Amino acid sequence: MEGTPVLQDSFGRVATDLRVSLTDRCNLRCSYCMPPEGLDWLPKPELLTAEEIVRLVTIGVERLGITEVRYTGGEPLLRRELVDIVARTVALTPTPQVSLTTNGIGLSRLAVPLAEAGLHRVNVSLDTLDRETFKKLAHRDRLADVLEGLAAAEAAGLRPVKVNAVLMRGINDHEAVPLLRYCLDRGYELRFIEQMPLDAQHGWRRENMITADEILVMLKESFDLTDADPQERGSAPAELFLVDGGPARVGVIGSVTRPFCGACDRVRLTADGQIRNCLFATDESDLRAAMRSGASDDELAERWLAAVRVKKAGHGIDDPTFLQPSRPMSAIGG
Ligand code: SAM
Repeated sequence: MEGTPVLQDSFGRVATDLRVSLTDRCNLRCSYCMPPEGLDWLPKPELLTAEEIVRLVTIGVERLGITEVRYTGGEPLLRRELVDIVARTVALTPTPQVSLTTNGIGLSRLAVPLAEAGLHRVNVSLDTLDRETFKKLAHRDRLADVLEGLAAAEAAGLRPVKVNAVLMRGINDHEAVPLLRYCLDRGYELRFIEQMPLDAQHGWRRENMITADEILVMLKESFDLTDADPQERGSAPAELFLVDGGPARVGVIGSVTRPFCGACDRVRLTADGQIRNCLFATDESDLRAAMRSGASDDELAERWLAAVRVKKAGHGIDDPTFLQPSRPMSAIGG
C-alpha cells in the first residue's frame, strides 16, 4: 500500500517477519535453552492477553508491512487461546503467512484444529531419535509425543513440515545422518541450527558448538549435497542443499559461524509485550506498558517503528564485547 510506513532500520533492512512468543513456559527443559528445574515464569498479569496480542499483530500487519507471523514460545501449544489467535491472524488483511514453532507435544491433538483455523505451516524441534538421549537432553520422557505430533502435522496438511535440530557435542552429534534419513523418509524438511549463546544458565561454550562446517562434513559422508538455488535463500537464515539431486532439501543455519544479519528481516514480540529488534538485543521497547496506559494504534506503531530504526548491524557474537542478552531464549521466542 502506498504511503504505508515500513519497519526499516538505519542500514536499510526492512522487517517483515514477526516472531511472537505466546508464553515463556515450556514442557521440556532442553539444556541449550533452560536449566532442568525450569525458570521463574512470567507472572500472568505481565503476559499479553490474547486481545492484546491480536491488537499488536494487527498493527504490524495492517500498518507496518508485516507479511509473516510466526507464533513461538516457550511452548506455544501451551497457550490455551492459540487456535483462536491463529484464526484471527489469518483473517487479517492482507493475509500474512502464519506459522508455528513448537516442540510438537500436543500437536497430535491440535494439528487438525490449527489447520482448520488456517495455520499455514509448522516447524517442529527434534534433536534426537533416541529415547534415552531425548531424556538426557530435554529432561523429559516425551520423544514419542514429539514424533506423533510431527506425523499429525503432516497428516493435517501443515506442509512442508519443517524440523529444527540443534546438535551438541558428545550428546547427539552422531545423529546428523539418522535425523536426515528420518526426515527424508517422511517428507519433512530438516534444518540444523548452530547452538547460540541464549541459554538461561549461560553454559554456551564455542568449543561445544557443532558448527555448520562440521554438520556439512558429516552429512556429505552419506549424502550428495548440492547448493539449492541461492536465489531462493532470500532473507531465510538456512543455507539450503539438495539431497542426492533433490527435490528433497536440507538446511543448515550457521547463526554463529555464518551470520546472516545483513539479510535479517525479523522483529520479535515477547510474551510480555516487548519489541526486540534482534534475538541478541539488550534493549527492548515496552508496548505493553504503552498499550495499558491508553496508547492509540498510531502511537504504538510509532514506538514500534522507532524500536526497529535503531537495530544494530549485527548480533556481534564474535565481538569481544559481546554480551549475552539477560532474557533467555524461552522468554524471547526463538
Ligand atoms: N518450544 C518451541 C520449540 O521447541 O520449537 C518453540 C520455542 S524454541 C525456543 C524455538 C527454537 O529455538 C527451537 O527449535 C529450539 O531448538 C531453538 N533453540 C533454543 N535454544 C537455542 C540455542 N541456544 N541455540 C540454538 N537454537 C536454540
